[in-house]
This record gives sequence, structure tokens and C-alpha cells, in this order.
Amino acid sequence: NTPLHELDPDVAAAVDAELRRQQSTLEMIASENFAPVAVMEAQGSVLTNKYAEGYPGRRYYGGCEHVDVAEQIAIDRIKDLFGAEYANVQPHSGASANQAALFAIAQPGDTILGLDLAHGGHLTHGMRLNFSGKQFNVVAYHVDEAGLVDMAEVERLAKEHRPKVIIAGWSAYPRQLDFAEFRRIADEVEAYLWVDMAHFAGLVAAGLHPNPVEYADVVTSTTHKTLGGPRGGIILAKKEFAKKLNSSVFPGFQGGPLEHVIAAKAVSFKVAASEEFKERQQRTLDGARIIAERLVQDDVREHGVSVLSGGTDVHLLLVDLRDSELDGQQAEDRLHEVGITVNRNAVPNDPRPPMVTSGLRIGTPALATRGFQAEDFREVADIIAETLKPGFDAEALKARVTALAEKHPLYPGLK
Ligand code: PLP
Repeated sequence: NTPLHELDPDVAAAVDAELRRQQSTLEMIASENFAPVAVMEAQGSVLTNKYAEGYPGRRYYGGCEHVDVAEQIAIDRIKDLFGAEYANVQPHSGASANQAALFAIAQPGDTILGLDLAHGGHLTHGMRLNFSGKQFNVVAYHVDEAGLVDMAEVERLAKEHRPKVIIAGWSAYPRQLDFAEFRRIADEVEAYLWVDMAHFAGLVAAGLHPNPVEYADVVTSTTHKTLGGPRGGIILAKKEFAKKLNSSVFPGFQGGPLEHVIAAKAVSFKVAASEEFKERQQRTLDGARIIAERLVQDDVREHGVSVLSGGTDVHLLLVDLRDSELDGQQAEDRLHEVGITVNRNAVPNDPRPPMVTSGLRIGTPALATRGFQAEDFREVADIIAETLKPGFDAEALKARVTALAEKHPLYPGLK
């Protein structure tokens, strides 16, 4: 029972340093969040020791009576949260959920239609080096000149290629998708509609974004982005897909479920049903809008900085640096220097290579969780704007970042 700091000071030092990094900088990677202490407690619990292949009530191991309770709570809560007929809470990650979902509704060699990676799609939606791109015949749709998903192209490609599955979802897109239109097109070509709501699930749970469960055959998500839980995946669906999805997750792709993570998911689903969570998601949206509005002002625009699609109605915005002397890598490095963590991101038709890019993806979920209010986001927006201008004063901007970090302490009880 030796504690971590005594048993393994080397690993403990890395964990401590990461805590200090999270506490002292501003985390603005759009896919990240801060899990509540109670979620981390469940995730660090003795449930990590338990084998539980199978599903609650139908396990291949003895002694599952308690993990059954936790897993069933997770299932019931997530079904309630999104109004789903079926839920599987076992996928180890978003990519695992997507793999299990896709293989449940399509066969290798079938055609799938998803958003191009360079236009905001995810690796698992048909990228060449991913299982989805290697094993399926991929057709990709794109965003138009205005930066919006081109639904006319989706319809044209769907009619031309008659995909088995149409995928609606994104990793880097600042607007809401038209699920009803996706459904109409899918019905017209007799395709399944799969929505990957990994990024915006928290907004949906809060009632601040249309709910894809009402339209899609299958919905997948991560639990650690806007949803604010432990790292992991989930699958929701209509009842008719239950058997296929269950057997695709286990034994199809996974063995023993991570019951400690599933318990932590259950805790986070309870949080996600609360009023406090709703209020937090509203601040997340407000923060992204405030930053987008700041970055289209003339003083930044004159240096070639703009915002894709002109703004945002979700938790992230995409900065377009195609006309800027700064590339994505340089902009990411500059923000890192002042204590703001973001990731560079390719923009549609990016002239720079994928490791450099001409864009930034900036998200607000983690800062909203930290308690940032509109006035704080206005200050963050101004710091970002000043950092992206020539002759930025790194020291002065870093001091402003530190003041914000100290105003909103993160995990004050943790050492
Ligand atoms: N789906 C989407 C839309 C994502 O953005 C991501 C992660 O960024 C995933 C799936 C994969 O999630 P994970 O990293 O947990 O495998």
C-alpha cells in the first residue's frame, strides 16, 4: 500500500508537474476539459481490478454484482440524458466506439460518406491511414466557400455513390449540422445515419444544441470533451441495433470493460444532468462567441487573421491564418509562450503542410469548467488578439494569463 510518491517518485513527479501545468496555464484545446474530482476518484478506484466481460446481468466472470450496479447506472443515466433507446458505455475511447459502431452497421468494402479530415472531419470518418479509410470505400464531403458543410454536395455524393453509412460529425467545425437534412438524404439513398457527437455532446446534454439521437440510427461520443467526464466512449442507438452493437463492442473489438472508467462515466452523467452543468455549457458557448467576435476586429484582421465561417455557434472557433505571416505552428508556439494551450489545425484548402498548417482551433470548455465568466473570456480574447499581432509583448501577456489562472484556481484541494 505504498503511496505513489514513495513507490515511484519519477512517475509521481511527472503527474505533479502536469497538475501544475494545468493549474498555471489556460487550457484551450477544444477537445479537453477538467474532470471533477469525484470522477477521478471513481476512475482511480478498486473497480480497476475487476474483470467483467459481458454486460450487466450476463457476465463471463463471477463477482460482478457491484460493477453491474455501476455499469447499469451509467447506462440508465446516459439513456435519460439524451433520450436514447439503447446505450453501450463500454468503448474505451471515441475511436473504439466509432470502430464498433461502423462495423455493426457496415461491412468492410462498403461505401461510407463522411466529412473530409482537412475540412473538419475525424480520423475515424474515413482517413486513409485509419481503419475506416483502410477497410471501407470512402467518399468525402466538404465545406463550401463560406466554411459551411455543403449539403448540396452531401446529397449529390449520396445519390452518386449510394453509401451504406452517412457520417455526420466533426472535430473542427464551428457550426451546428443540419441533422434533419442529413436524415432526409440518408432516407433517400437508404443509408444509415451515424452521428459522431464527440465534440458537442455536452452542449446537447444541456439542451443548447439539437439532439442527434432524434435523427440518427447510431450516435457515438467521447465522454471527456464538452461532456466533461473521464476519457472514454459511448454508443447510443435505436433499440433495433442493440444486439449488433453490443456484440460489436464485446466480443467484436474489446475484452474486459474498464469498469473503473464506466463508474466514472456514470458520475459524470449525473453531473451532466444538473443545472450547474447547463449554466457551464452556456458560458462555454458565450466564451467561444466572445473570442470569435474579438478576432474579427480590424486591429487583428489587418494582420491577416480571420475566423472561419465568421464566428461560431459551438464551443470552439477556427482561426484562419492563410493571409497571415504567422503559420499555425508559429501561432501555437506564441500562445504557448504566453501560457495559452491550443492546437494548430489545417484549414480547408490549406496551402501549408499538415505539420505546419494555417489555422488554430481554440475551445472554451476547460476554461468554462474552471469558472470563467464573460468578463474573463473578454480578457482571454484580448490576450489572444495581442499575441497574434506583430511585436507582441510575451512577458506582459503572460502576466495577464497568470492573473486569470490565479483568479480561477483549478483543483485547489489537489497537491
Ligand atoms: N470522434 C470525434 C469527432 C473526435 O473529435 C474524436 C477525438 O478527437 C474522436 C472521435 C476520438 O476520440 P478518442 O481520442 O477518445 O479516441
